[in-house]
Amino acid sequence: MSIKAYRFQLRTRPGVERLLRRFTGSCRWAWNAAIAEQRRRREAGEKFSPYAAMCRWLTEWRHAPETAWLAQAPIHPLQQTLRRLEAAYQRFFAGRGGYPKFKRRGQEPGLRFPDPKQFALDQGNARVKLPKLGWLRMRQSQAVVGELRNATVTAERGKWFVSLQVEQPDVLPSAELMPTLGIDLGVALFAALSDGRTVEPLDALKQQQRRLKHAQRAVSRKVKGSRNRRKAVDRLGRLHARIAAQRNDWLHKLTTELADQHPAIAIEELKVAAMSASAAGTADAPGQRVRQKAGLNRAILDQGWAEFRRQLEYKCAARGGAVVAVNPAYTSQTCSRCGCVDAGNRTAQAIFACLACGHAENADVNAAHNILAAGRAVWAARPTACGAEVSRASPARGRRAAAVKQEPTEATPAAAAEAR
Ligand SMILES: [Zn+2]
Repeated sequence: MSIKAYRFQLRTRPGVERLLRRFTGSCRWAWNAAIAEQRRRREAGEKFSPYAAMCRWLTEWRHAPETAWLAQAPIHPLQQTLRRLEAAYQRFFAGRGGYPKFKRRGQEPGLRFPDPKQFALDQGNARVKLPKLGWLRMRQSQAVVGELRNATVTAERGKWFVSLQVEQPDVLPSAELMPTLGIDLGVALFAALSDGRTVEPLDALKQQQRRLKHAQRAVSRKVKGSRNRRKAVDRLGRLHARIAAQRNDWLHKLTTELADQHPAIAIEELKVAAMSASAAGTADAPGQRVRQKAGLNRAILDQGWAEFRRQLEYKCAARGGAVVAVNPAYTSQTCSRCGCVDAGNRTAQAIFACLACGHAENADVNAAHNILAAGRAVWAARPTACGAEVSRASPARGRRAAAVKQEPTEATPAAAAEAR
């Protein structure tokens, strides 16, 4: 079994927000009061009071007339706050953290509901029911799959979010499963598929990028510590969040559709981190055309190849399939029909034209065919007879070093042989 978390923004009304602020404030109060009590007892020569003892203090506070308002907040998040405090103390005792600190306003711990019996999820109406809060609507961007474990409500920049943890069974891919789709990732096209389809990059992000630059400049122009700067920082933060949400939404739609149609998918092994970090070059070899590369790298990050891959992996796995990564070398210069490899096969950027057999096709779709063929070869050669050990195939052996897409200058053996 594996744990997965979904996070959705709550569509709160002012009345509910007041309650949420009050409840998170109660948790902060409990955290601070428990630290004060621990200190008082330590100074009196007593030893540390563990979680169970702190829960008894909580009961006393909830019954004491002067702190009876604590009883209005749901009990479990208060207890969970004390559990987290105990963990903080244990880290301190083990020398792995400082003495627990008082929390100021704005540092409220989230409301954690540890027992799925205490809350309910209504996916049809995109809402969640929480103790003492009732039904709360949320911006549910995707279906929640799995068995609910716990829920946590947190605030971020004045907005409220619920995080739902679920447990999902680890589905093992069946032995007879073969990849049925190859995907070539690119910049001009986000992806080309071996079934002939192409996926344009999300243009909205480019526009947002301009707004982002504008907002960043606004922050740097404002006086440090000023009210206007705080406002500008908030604006920038909201913009970042919106871009991330748009991209995620787009990626989720795409990966769900692909995984539904093809539970086993072959994809290029691309080291996204290496590609985005290498543009500046080193002292010995300063980066060539750093500006263009930086633009390319930002485009890569924008389009979220790594996130695309991550989503595809778990969605395929949840459907009993897998993502097979293959070495991308030569995939763009090999003819997917006859296997001829020649740099001359690709004279124009967008068109593949085989010099041997005359096969002509969108260059990226041709590459996707090769990736699918290589993926099938990798999958067939995987080191297991029954498929029980493989949940995620690894790329062809010894080829990890060549992960950054490279174009060879001479004719070389066909991609299928490379990927063996
Ligand atoms: Zn050919």
